[in-house]
Amino acid sequence: REKNREGYVPLYDNFEKFYLWYVYRRVRDCWNRPITSVPGAMVTVKERVTPDYGWTFVFTGREIPSLNLGSYNYLGFAESHSKCADDSIDTLHKYGWATCSSRHELGTNNLHVELEQLTARFLGVEAAITFGMGFATNSLNLPTLVSDGCLVMSDEKNHASLILGLRLSGALIRVFKHNNMKHLEKLLREAIVNGQPKTGKPWEKILIVVEGVYSMEGSIVKLPEVIALKKMYKAYLYVDEAHSIGALGPHGRGVVDYWGCDPQDIDVFMGTFTKSFGSAGGYIAGSKELIDHIRVHSHAACYASSMSPPVAQQIITSMKIIMGEDGTNEGINRIRQLKHNTRYFRKRLHQMGVIIYGNEDSPVVPLLVYLFSKIGGVVRGLAARKIATVGVGFPATPLMEGRIRFCLSAAHTKEQLDYALEQIDDIANELGLKYSQKPRCPR
Ligand code: PMP
Repeated sequence: REKNREGYVPLYDNFEKFYLWYVYRRVRDCWNRPITSVPGAMVTVKERVTPDYGWTFVFTGREIPSLNLGSYNYLGFAESHSKCADDSIDTLHKYGWATCSSRHELGTNNLHVELEQLTARFLGVEAAITFGMGFATNSLNLPTLVSDGCLVMSDEKNHASLILGLRLSGALIRVFKHNNMKHLEKLLREAIVNGQPKTGKPWEKILIVVEGVYSMEGSIVKLPEVIALKKMYKAYLYVDEAHSIGALGPHGRGVVDYWGCDPQDIDVFMGTFTKSFGSAGGYIAGSKELIDHIRVHSHAACYASSMSPPVAQQIITSMKIIMGEDGTNEGINRIRQLKHNTRYFRKRLHQMGVIIYGNEDSPVVPLLVYLFSKIGGVVRGLAARKIATVGVGFPATPLMEGRIRFCLSAAHTKEQLDYALEQIDDIANELGLKYSQKPRCPR
C-alpha cells in the first residue's frame, strides 16, 4: 500500500470510501434516521433528506409518527408504560444505572444471578451466563470454545458477530450453503476423511454454528436435521437464537420449542435480549461445565462491565410474563398474537404477488426488491406514507438481492397491518415489484 506524504499507510482505503459514497450517496437519508420515541407499534422518526450533491444530509426538523415495521420488538415489550418499565424504574432507584465493575470484581448483583437462573429455567438447561451486549456475546465467547486444530461448520448467512468470533478463534472455518443439510454433510464428511490440513491429524473438536431465525432471510434453521448430523459426525452445536427466542414456539422458547426437540441436544444456546425482551444484552446457556468454563475464560465475562441493573430487570419481568409466572395469560397471548400477525402479513404479501423470503412463522419478512436503487424508492415511499421500514443492501446481502425487511410484532393491530399492506401494494405496483409485472426502472 502507498504511503502518504507523512509516511503513513492511510487508515481508510480510498477506493472503498469512493465505492460506499457512490453507492450510498443517493440513498443515505434512508438510514440513520433518529427516532424520538419508544420503538413500539408506532415510532416517531426525524425526517432526513439527501440533497443531490455533496456529503451532507439535512434534517427537515419534522418528526413523523409512523407505523413501525422496522424494530425487532417481536413481543411488544418495548413499552414505556408497562409493568416492565415500572419494575425497571424501581430498580433504577435501588441500584442506579451501572455496576461500575466487571462480574468478577464488584459487578455481580442479585439481579444478574436471578436472571441467569431464570434464563436457564426458561430454556430447560442447567445454567446460563449473561453479558451486557449481544454482539460481544458471540464475538468474545466463541474464541473460548474453539481454537487452532478445531473445525467450524458455519452457515453462509450467519451474523457478523458469529463470523467475527469464529475468525478470532483461529479455528478452521468451512462455510456451508444456507440451511442446506446436504452441503453441510458433504463438508463434514470431507473434513473428517481428510483430517486437519497439512498434518492430516483428526480434528480436536468440530462445532456447527447456526442461527434460529436468520435475520436477513427470515428462514428458520432445520434443527432436527442439524441435530441428526451433529450426532452422526460427533460434532458440537451452537445455536444463535437472537431472533427466535421469545418469538418462536408455542411457549416462546425458540427453535427447540418450535421443532419439539430436546434442549439437551444443543450444546451451546446463545441469544440476545434486544429483541423479544425489549432490553439489551445477551446470554450463553447450556451445561453447568460449559457455563463455568465461560465464566472463567471468556474476555466478555472477565474484562467487561456487567449488565446495567434496570436492563436486567426489564428482562426478568418480561421473561416471567412470557413464562406465565406473573399469574396471567399475557405472555402466551403475546406469543399467539405474534404468530397470528406473522401468518396474516405473510399470507397477504403472497396474495399480493410480491417476492418474500422465509418461513411462514418467521416474524422477519424480507421483501425482495433486488436492485439496489429500488431500496431507496421503497423506504422513501413508505416513509412518505408514515411507515418506518428498514432497507437492506450490499454488503449485508448479496449485491443484487436488495430487500426491505419488515419485522412484525405482537403489538401490531390488524388495522395497522392492513394499512401497511395497502401502501406496500401501491408502491409494489409503482416500482414493479410483483411477479406479474415487467421489471421497471425506479423513479
Ligand atoms: N446475533 C444475531 C443473529 C443478530 O441478528 C444480532 C443483531 N441483530 C446479534 C447477534 C447481536 O445482538 P445485539 O444487537 O443484541 O448486540
